[in-house]
Amino acid sequence: MPVTQNHSALLDLCRQRQPEMLDLLRRVVEMESPSDDKEALDRLGRFLGSEFSRLGAEVTFIPQKDAGDHLKAGFPDKAERSDQSAKPILLLGHFDTVWPLGTLSKMPFKVENGRAFGPGIYDMKTGIVMMLFALRSLREMGVEHRPVVVLLDSDEEVGSRTGRPVIEAAAKNCEAVLVLEPSQTIQGYLKTARKGVGDFRLQVRGRASHAGVDFEKGHSAIVELSRQLLEVTKFTDLERGITVNPGVIHGGSRTNVVAAEAVAEIDVRIARLADGPELEQKFHSLKAFDPGCTIEVSGGINRPPMERTAGTAKLFQIAQEHGAALGMKLAEASTGGGSDGNFTSALGIPTLDGLGAVGEGAHASNESIVLEELPRRTALLAALIQSL
Ligand SMILES: [Zn+2]
Repeated sequence: MPVTQNHSALLDLCRQRQPEMLDLLRRVVEMESPSDDKEALDRLGRFLGSEFSRLGAEVTFIPQKDAGDHLKAGFPDKAERSDQSAKPILLLGHFDTVWPLGTLSKMPFKVENGRAFGPGIYDMKTGIVMMLFALRSLREMGVEHRPVVVLLDSDEEVGSRTGRPVIEAAAKNCEAVLVLEPSQTIQGYLKTARKGVGDFRLQVRGRASHAGVDFEKGHSAIVELSRQLLEVTKFTDLERGITVNPGVIHGGSRTNVVAAEAVAEIDVRIARLADGPELEQKFHSLKAFDPGCTIEVSGGINRPPMERTAGTAKLFQIAQEHGAALGMKLAEASTGGGSDGNFTSALGIPTLDGLGAVGEGAHASNESIVLEELPRRTALLAALIQSL
């Protein structure tokens, strides 16, 4: 795609707006929003809602009892657009963070050496600010585009338990989904594939006995669990992109007691949707080695993988062309981490992820974004919305 007048105009506009973007970003970062604090989440959600309203969006909140209310902002089709039945584009993101209230006192918002720092700035408050400014630029330039739906959920960092159905309902009728999660690594890769995620819990019950007096009468839940763990780690298949990680174990009471109880929590990742049912089946058919023990397996795959479909590859190619016109060399990457893009992709909707901030330190104390990339990435998002 050649550099059009629009590309340079968009970029100029986004560059002029950088101080304003940064100012809004500071306000958004300074409204802390941990996934488990409804009051804090709702405060930020309402603030963001008013920002989208100011751009002419119809804002609705999807009320939740335990999570923060999810935010949906609809930008209607422009009346002059010839194709009245155009399917919307979904801009997807989340406004919760992994950081508890009070983190700001140790990790305040600051700008230093071309970076901006703060809790949740990279994952993914900058992405939300980019949505606002990309849409604003298009509006100010009077550019026609498809209708846009913005959906921001409040529990992504804890598995999108309540966000998932809302996202799936919104994505169903969309032409494409653009996910404003941070890009991958400081090189700013876009994400065209993500692994699916599952959680399993293995609960073993044995029989307690005195380790000195009645050893033979006991059935050790710890020994049984250990054998089961060796079994489940055989499910790992690196070539197929399947990993099984027993991340947490508990069990036993005292050294002189044969353990009656033991439990393991296991993280599972899969690269292909088709591997999910087989793996679930394997977990649920585990049998105790020791007939004096019972095992109970719960859990399953809760985020399907985002596979690199033809639709996603096409979106990436379009992004790459706009990137080139804006002076960026965009590359793609896959990641083992999941996002809400996994859900929309599993529905068969072309989904491109990692369009948000360039930076580093998600969920870490050095969380920061590269300021120089902010206007270019925002212009890229605007160009994508315009051309899809
Ligand atoms: Zn995120």
